[in-house]
Amino acid sequence: SALSAVACVACLLHNVAGFVVGPTPTARGSFTRVNRASSAAAVSRAPGTLAPAAAARTQVGHASAVLRSSSAGREMTMAAGGKKTCIITGASSGIGLEGAKFLAASGDWHVILAVRSFAKAEAGAKDLGMDPSTYTVMNLDLASLNSVRNFVAEIKAAKVKPDALVCNAAVWHPKDKKPRRTADGFEEAIGVNHLGHFLLVNLLMDELKQSRVVFIGTETHNPGSIAGKIPPQAHLGDLDGLAKNEPMIDGVKYEPTKAYKDSKVCNVLMMREMNKRYSSGGMVVSALFPGCIAESPLFREKRGWFRAGFPVFQKFVTRQLVSVEEAGRRMADVVSSDKLSSSGTYWRWNGQDAEATARENVVSDEAMDEARCEKLWQISSDLVGI
Ligand code: NDP
Repeated sequence: SALSAVACVACLLHNVAGFVVGPTPTARGSFTRVNRASSAAAVSRAPGTLAPAAAARTQVGHASAVLRSSSAGREMTMAAGGKKTCIITGASSGIGLEGAKFLAASGDWHVILAVRSFAKAEAGAKDLGMDPSTYTVMNLDLASLNSVRNFVAEIKAAKVKPDALVCNAAVWHPKDKKPRRTADGFEEAIGVNHLGHFLLVNLLMDELKQSRVVFIGTETHNPGSIAGKIPPQAHLGDLDGLAKNEPMIDGVKYEPTKAYKDSKVCNVLMMREMNKRYSSGGMVVSALFPGCIAESPLFREKRGWFRAGFPVFQKFVTRQLVSVEEAGRRMADVVSSDKLSSSGTYWRWNGQDAEATARENVVSDEAMDEARCEKLWQISSDLVGI
């Protein structure tokens, strides 16, 4: 039928893009509505009612930023005392930058934009009207394990104890025929999206014991979801390819969109393993599928017709499109809302705008497998040398 043809095209477009939403209603959070699957009642919370915190300040010429070096070591002075600190990787554009905007504007958070381009992050923050005293730009290139180590050294030297870390940065190269490699020789999607974050989290483990760690996931990590069913499906298998540092985790021929989806399965596996290991000590580890943000720079390598048509299709046919601002608001909620504080949860929302409600999401069968969580942790530890 015409309807099923439209649905089919919708699914295909979703898949080609690598993302999809699939919601269901619930309650209200601080920036967005929140609802736990266990509770039918919606709960509300006024915007801007985030918990208090302690903020970090650092370099790059912000008016109130103070990063001091001394012979005794580097010390980051807390310029915005009483605020919490949130590190967001890849916050130079897209969801990460928008999430930073919401947290910073709340007045309760100081945000560290952990990026590979100072200039881009500064320009992006300025474009969004962020107050320079509310954020700090720091260099972090997840495609280099040395850069990750240097970043962590800076954080520790400055005695910053992050209250939250958002593993947001990601690369997706849909048109590549051959794998790109990171400085350490890993296929780039697995290297940046997973291994860089894996090392970052592990090196900061002492600082994160009582903190929130948030991963940005995608619905297409899950072959059990509509979008995730369409090839190339995510599949990690027994992780033999990763263990041998082959381009694909399951050892098959390189396919860039599968490589991206596989890396996002790793984000969920890592979230679940961290929850198992550390939540009893006070860490809150979660992930979210923020919705499909078809206009975000992640789609920069897709063809023009696709970038023009996809958002229209998502909005009017699938009704799964969210703005990058709305996605950022959702990220900020998972970082800060009391209502989204259950560790081990993968969140999703039930609509396209700020009225949408959050609920618990299902993860893929592969991501549910505890043995695979542990195996990924072990192989990743070996690969990054910890
Ligand atoms: P963007 O491309 O805007 O954000 C990705 C960010 O990652 C960029 O700021 C980019 O920095 C950064 N990055 C890339 N490589 C590195 C690196 N080596 N070191 C440090 N940072 C790096 O896309 P989105 O905002 O859409 O994506 C953000 C997250 O949301 C990703 O994890 C993505 O998988 C997820 N997501 C996106 C969806 C969507 O529809 N867009 C849907 C579901 C999930 P630079 O500017 O330097 O390139």
